[in-house]
Amino acid sequence: MGIIGWLAAGAVLAAPIQAAAPEVRQVAPGLHVLIGTSGNVLIAPLADGVLIVDDERPTDYAEIVAAVAKLSPLPVRTVINTHWHLDHTGGNAKFRAAGATVIAQINVCLRRSTDQFMPAYNRTIPAAPAAALPNGLFDKGMILREGRERIRLTYAPAAHTDGDTIVRFERANVIHMGDIYFRGIWPFIDRASGGSVQGMIAAVDSVLKVANTKTVIVPAHGEIATRADLVKYRAMLAEVVAAVRERIARGETLEQVVAAKPAAPWRTGMEGNEDGFVGAVFDSLKNPDAPGIAPPAPSSGSAAIACVRGDYFFPPRR
Ligand SMILES: [Zn+2]
Repeated sequence: MGIIGWLAAGAVLAAPIQAAAPEVRQVAPGLHVLIGTSGNVLIAPLADGVLIVDDERPTDYAEIVAAVAKLSPLPVRTVINTHWHLDHTGGNAKFRAAGATVIAQINVCLRRSTDQFMPAYNRTIPAAPAAALPNGLFDKGMILREGRERIRLTYAPAAHTDGDTIVRFERANVIHMGDIYFRGIWPFIDRASGGSVQGMIAAVDSVLKVANTKTVIVPAHGEIATRADLVKYRAMLAEVVAAVRERIARGETLEQVVAAKPAAPWRTGMEGNEDGFVGAVFDSLKNPDAPGIAPPAPSSGSAAIACVRGDYFFPPRR
């Protein structure tokens, strides 16, 4: 089933976004990508355990463990969640129970610790139990050192959500962009979770700045990419923004803008919800300061307090 089925009302977040899976591909020495049932998982076997970026849905745990076992005799020690959505955090409870630390930007924890209503799908995602929350948290970013490798985690504010992290293996020259980059799929910008097209473009620009012709760019969904592919994606975002902005200036409504199909020139090779994407661009431009449905304040409840404490926090809070 393709993404169109995945995006059908009611079916969302319940069925796989990727059909032909799973498959493991080496993208750099010592770095692999599991093209998983629900997304692309970066696998890095390190000296004292395996690090993975994103952990799909709960039902995909076994395929991740099987892929890891082929690459290392050691268990998963570190999981990085690129954002809170269920196809990126679904394995958290099982990996934590098996001894892993789950690292994420603090808004991932705050949103997962409370019910999240997603108007795009008219669905409420129930809060995760404490044991499934990230337990290693940061605010703006952090660096993990492993031998001569530096793994740089950078917070990309207000992009796909308000808790996106870009994960860059500096020496290996590999970057996992989470859902900031959908390849061959119309981007989903989660406005209710504080995402915006402006933030998406800013995040893409931050990657283009550090990427070169040899950089391997891993979208969370879709084919593994190059900098040139990301340049095209950036152009698509910018051109759709320009077209929508022009129509807003003419006084057109959301319905009129969506009906005008301003993203049509970019349809070749794209799957998914074109109208939903255009609608999110419209809303981003029309209400640039809308924070979405805010995550709970860190002081508002015990689960949120757990998020602030974490098991550790970068930089450490005193
Ligand atoms: Zn997502």
